[in-house]
Amino acid sequence: MTGERNDTVKNEKCISVGDGAMAKVKIDKNLCTGCALCTTICGEVFELGADGKASITERYRSDDESTGEVPDDIECVDSAAESCPMGAISKE
Ligand code: SF4
Repeated sequence: MTGERNDTVKNEKCISVGDGAMAKVKIDKNLCTGCALCTTICGEVFELGADGKASITERYRSDDESTGEVPDDIECVDSAAESCPMGAISKE
């Protein structure tokens, strides 16, 4: 019962935040060299994981540590993606 209530609240929250304002971000760990440039540019969204490669911070993580959903107005994600020397960050 309590779980259902939580799910309902969570879903409503997702809908209200997701009015076209969320973007999917993905890190290709096969390309990432762990240079940490993205973590410097956009530490709110990117961090170095235990494998020494970039990961999505827990706050924005979705399926796994290399994928996330972030508010579209966090502009540093674009800067990080453009600056990544390996082209390992994609946003859609
Ligand atoms: S800038 Fe690119 S290569 Fe460097 S840590 Fe971030 S994702 Fe990896």
